[in-house]
Amino acid sequence: MNTIGHLINGEMHTRSDRQQDIINPSTNLVESKVALASKATVEEAIAVAQAAYPAWRNTPPIKRARIMFRFKDLLEQNADKICELITREHGKVLNDAMGELQRGIENVEYACSVPELLKGEHSKNVGPAIDSWSEFQPLGVCAGITPFNFPAMVPLWMWPMAVACGNTFILKPSERDPSSALLIAQLALEAGLPAGVLNVVNGDKEAVDTLLSDNRVHAVSFVGSTPIAKYVYETGCRNGKRVQAFGGAKNHAIVMPDADLDNAVSALMGAAYGSCGERCMAISVAVAVGDATADALVEKLKAQIADLKVGDGMDNSNDMGPVVTKAQLEKIEGYIAKGVEEGADLVVDGRGLKVAGFENGNYLGASLFDRVKEGMVIHSDEIFGPVLCVMRVDTMQEAMDIINAHEYGNGTCIFTRDGEAARYFADNILVGMVGINVPLPVPVAYHSFGGWKQSLFGDLHAYGPDAVRFYSKRKTITQRWPASGVREGAQFTFPSNG
Ligand code: NAD
Repeated sequence: MNTIGHLINGEMHTRSDRQQDIINPSTNLVESKVALASKATVEEAIAVAQAAYPAWRNTPPIKRARIMFRFKDLLEQNADKICELITREHGKVLNDAMGELQRGIENVEYACSVPELLKGEHSKNVGPAIDSWSEFQPLGVCAGITPFNFPAMVPLWMWPMAVACGNTFILKPSERDPSSALLIAQLALEAGLPAGVLNVVNGDKEAVDTLLSDNRVHAVSFVGSTPIAKYVYETGCRNGKRVQAFGGAKNHAIVMPDADLDNAVSALMGAAYGSCGERCMAISVAVAVGDATADALVEKLKAQIADLKVGDGMDNSNDMGPVVTKAQLEKIEGYIAKGVEEGADLVVDGRGLKVAGFENGNYLGASLFDRVKEGMVIHSDEIFGPVLCVMRVDTMQEAMDIINAHEYGNGTCIFTRDGEAARYFADNILVGMVGINVPLPVPVAYHSFGGWKQSLFGDLHAYGPDAVRFYSKRKTITQRWPASGVREGAQFTFPSNG
C-alpha cells in the first residue's frame, strides 16, 4: 500500500514515522497510508527551510514571480489529477473540487504580481538631503497548518504569497486528505521553486507543536476549528511568533419579506448543502423575517431538497458526496437527534440514506429544521454537515441581534430588494465577510479573507493585500548623503525641520 510521505529539500521521505490510514469517504476503504512526522522529522524540515532562506531572500522578486507564472500553468495542466485526489480523500463532488482549485489558482495569479506588491513607499527630502523609505522584507521560515475541508485551496492561500515575498515555508496539511497539497507542492518544484524553499510535512499534533515551539519558525498561518485555532494562536504568540489562526463558523442568512424568494432558495440550497455543508462559509442558519416569509421559504426549500442527488463524488451529476469520516457522520446525526430533543421541527430528515453501490459510505441526505431558537445546541454549535436551520423573527433588527450575539462571525448575507436595508445591514453587522444577495461572500484573491470574533485570532486576514503584510516585515530606512562631510562639519543640535 502506498505511504504518503513528506517533501523535504525536494525529496520524498517517510522515515520511520508513525502512520495513519487515508480512508475514501465514499467506500470507507483504506486508500493509502500517511506518515505522521515526528519532532525530529519536522526539525529536519525546519533546518532545510532555514538553509534555503538566504539565497531565496536575495532572489529578485521578478524571478520569484516567474516561477509563480509557470506554477499556475502546471496547476491548470494537472487540474483533473489534483481534483481526483481531492474527491477520493475528501469526498466532495469533482466539479466542486474544481471550483476549490480555481479559487486556489487565483491566489497564485495574485502572487505573480509580487514585484508590484513589494514596492514599498519612498519620500524624498524628508529633511535637507535626507531621503526615507519603507520596504517589506521577508520574515524567514514560515509555517502553514491547514484543515481537511479545502485540502488544495487553503494551502494555496498561504505558501504561494509567503514564498513570493521571499520566505521559505513548511506546510502541514490535514492528515485526513494530504495528497492534493503534496502533488501541488511537487508541481511548484517542477515550476522551478528551489528545493528547500517549500517543504511539506504530514502529521498531527506532534508536528504542529514542533512548528509552534521552534525558534527558527517566525510566522504561523492556521486554518481549522476554533479550539485548535485558539490553541495555535496562544501557543505561537507565547513563543514570539506572528500568528493568524482562522477558526470555525456559524453563518446566518437573513431572508427579508421583500426578497426574491426563488433566488434566495436556490442560493441557500448551494450555500447550505454544497460540499455537504463542510465549508467554513456554508450558510447553516436562515433567519426569516415574518411568518409568511418563513412558511414560503420552508416549503420551497423542502421541494428543492427532494430533488437533491446524493452519491459518489466521482460522478459529477451528484449534488452532494459523502461527509469526510464515519465519526463526522455520527456527530452530525447526533446533532439532528439533539435538535429534535430540544424542540425544533425536523422538516426533512437526511439520516439513514443509503447510496446504491456505496452502502458503506458516509452518506447523509440534506436535513432541514424549522423553528430553531437561540440557546439550542443546533444553533450555537458549528455542525459542519448538511443541516440547515430556519429561525423565525418579526423584524430585521431581531435577526441582526441574533447574528451579532453569536460567538462566530465569519460570513453572513441578506436577501432583500431594499438598498437601504442592505446598506444598514452591511454597516452594522458584526461579521467579517458580508454578502448582499450573495450567499457565499468569499472575497476574491485580491481582497483578503477573514472573519471576526471566534472565527479569527490575530489581526491580518488571509491572502490578498493582508497576506503581503503578514508574510513581510516593514523596515524604514532614513538616509543622508552630505555633499561633503568635511565641508559641512559636525552638527550638535537635534535634527528637525523646524
Ligand atoms: P481541525 O482543527 O481538526 O484541524 C485543522 C488542523 O489542525 C489539521 O492540520 C490538524 O492536523 C491540526 N490539529 C488537529 N488537532 C490538533 C491539536 N490538538 N493540536 C495541534 N494541531 C491539531 O479542523 P478540520 O476538522 O480539519 O477542519 C474543519 C474546521 O476548519 C471547521 O471548524 C471549519 O469551520 C474550519 N475552517 C475555517 C476556515 C476559515 O477560514 N475560518 C476555513 C476552512 C475551515
